[in-house]
Amino acid sequence: MSNRFIILDRDGTVIVDKHYLDNPDGVELLPGAVQGLRKMIDAGYSLIFVSNQSGIGRGLFDVATLDAINQRMTNILEQEGISHKGIYYCPHTPEENCSCRKPRTALVINAIAEHGFQPEESWVIGDKAADINLGKAVNARSILVLTGKGTKTNEENLVSADYEANNLTDAADFIIQTDNK
Ligand SMILES: [Mg+2]
Ligand SMILES: [Zn+2]
Repeated sequence: MSNRFIILDRDGTVIVDKHYLDNPDGVELLPGAVQGLRKMIDAGYSLIFVSNQSGIGRGLFDVATLDAINQRMTNILEQEGISHKGIYYCPHTPEENCSCRKPRTALVINAIAEHGFQPEESWVIGDKAADINLGKAVNARSILVLTGKGTKTNEENLVSADYEANNLTDAADFIIQTDNK
């Protein structure tokens, strides 16, 4: 298989959304995350994270704290045999009007420059409209997970993703089935 990437949201998609998580001890994987991510890896996909972290711009926590949280998540996943190829984040508030806050595309464009994958062959998975709209903006396929804020996003009819998944295991099954057609 070619160089296929899955672009993951962090909060509400892979780990429990603790609303401006500011402590590494609060990292908690969602049900289905380990099994789903392992299926993706086993099927040959590379994983990256793209995350809005406006808690930094809002002064709620600093970059060192975010790095520690991300490192803890990375360590927990690696203990499960799951490695990723990078965590890209936007530290800005919406008011800063940056080019990297999802659904804006700068973080994915950076990731493409670094890893050389085709967005059309890739997937974006997240629980909010910004994730799905990011997927559309970069011409990737998108999956709304019904974890985190996903059920609310779905009920509010904010977006139409290519698929709505109960969790990451369901998402992995759909991705593998779709790409193997
Ligand atoms: Mg999220
Ligand atoms: Zn930004």
